[in-house]
Amino acid sequence: GMNLYWHRRDLRGTDNRGLVRAVSRSAEPVIPVFVFDPTVLEHASAVRVACLLEALEGLRAWYRERGSDLLVARGEASDVLPRLAAEHDIDAVVWAEDYSGLARERDRAVTAALEDDGVACDPVHDAIHHEPGSITPNEGDHYSVFSYFWKKWRDREKLEPLEPPAADALAAVTGEPLPSASELGFDEPTATPQSVTQTAARECVTEFCSGPIYRYADAREKPAVDGTSRLSAHLKWGTIGIRAVYEATERAAERAATDDDRESVVAFQRQLAWREFYAHVLAFNPETVTENFSGYEHDIPWRNDPDELEAWKAGETGYPIVDAGMRQLQAEGWMHNRVRMLVASFLTKDLLIDWREGYDWFRRKLADHETANDVGGWQWAGSTGTDAQPYFRVFNPMKQGREYDPDAAYIREYVPELEAVAADAIHDWHDLESERRAQLAPSYPAPIVDHGERRERAIAAFEQARGE
Ligand code: FAD
Repeated sequence: GMNLYWHRRDLRGTDNRGLVRAVSRSAEPVIPVFVFDPTVLEHASAVRVACLLEALEGLRAWYRERGSDLLVARGEASDVLPRLAAEHDIDAVVWAEDYSGLARERDRAVTAALEDDGVACDPVHDAIHHEPGSITPNEGDHYSVFSYFWKKWRDREKLEPLEPPAADALAAVTGEPLPSASELGFDEPTATPQSVTQTAARECVTEFCSGPIYRYADAREKPAVDGTSRLSAHLKWGTIGIRAVYEATERAAERAATDDDRESVVAFQRQLAWREFYAHVLAFNPETVTENFSGYEHDIPWRNDPDELEAWKAGETGYPIVDAGMRQLQAEGWMHNRVRMLVASFLTKDLLIDWREGYDWFRRKLADHETANDVGGWQWAGSTGTDAQPYFRVFNPMKQGREYDPDAAYIREYVPELEAVAADAIHDWHDLESERRAQLAPSYPAPIVDHGERRERAIAAFEQARGE
């Protein structure tokens, strides 16, 4: 009989292990389907629904070019899939694993419902090279120190990208139109995120691997430079396969002119490994979405300060690099990694506000929100995570601004109030006389807190939590 291929976060036809598996299971053509599940949508946001719909339009176009189509259904996946399976006389449903706790709960319910009806379920590992449990220390399910994980990950053989199935392996079905964002209960996003389609993903990788990847090792720390790949939203939505990405980096390494160029490619591959490291951590610790990964003897005395939290969200803290980052997030649904680290440190240390508040905001605003990476990043900055920032190393936002955005070009791009202010004054904003600040940029706030004081208070609070 026929098989269903259930797309979830792998919105592409090429280099898709699940789709290839579905095709290889049967001589009959495969029916591709996407389900708008209200339980999943409850956790979505305007910007992510916009990305999802764009990626789905692209995927649908890809199927239509091959004489097929994407079936679109709405409802709990555990109701919808058994119904579709009965309607189309389906033998098996295939999908790609998702490692978050919520997704796995849903998949258990779907599996139970389908198996009750005698339909086989065949989940496949696709999103990462090495699935959770396949890279482990001598004791335990997963590494908690990245450098050890990386050494093994790096040396492990990688799969080649997979060809897309032939057109005649795909069923000649006709799907319903996609629902609009408002039909799904979402507003238009305030941010304009990057385009998230298979075509955009391929262009992104090709462009990055044709040159910028050789400068990545240096340029990745400079938010004013467009020095990173901008692949995160594509990897989140699966508009490109990880095997295809990796292969492009390997080809770039072969073309490298110098050792530095080759090392820069490896520096990029190392970041791809972080993504897999955090996927493993989350897979074995699903509770870390809401709980600290590493416990302290006592509770961390997080502060409840709605005004400071609001100032942080709005990019109105009076710390220019922090505000630039928070405003980039609002405008683009993306923020540079160096700045993500800084704003997260500012929230959890300078403001001593719970990392979960920051995570919630990022989750709503990021187009590339990926539970594993987002929780991983927040727990790293909050000093509660695996291989986290030590609690006593508190980023100094002035120094960091000066070091990573020396000309303040990034800051000025996102904080127009500072457009006409010299870089030195921007980086010294905290130490200027208030009259001077009012003169230079009357509509930009004075720092809402004193970094030196707040740093000491944070360290004391963490020491107390540690029982020191
Ligand atoms: P590049 O530098 O080009 O990196 C390439 C890819 O490697 C990224 O697309 C990503 O898949 C992976 N990667 C890079 N750095 C990391 C990292 N530190 N941890 C895990 N994977 C990494 N990344 C997300 O994909 N989704 C998130 O929700 C997310 N939330 C974050 C929250 C905080 C507080 C912090 C500090 C970091 C977060 N990151 C997140 C990691 C990182 O900031 C982004 O992956 C990166 O900025 C995306 O831009 P890029 O694709 O141009 O990165």
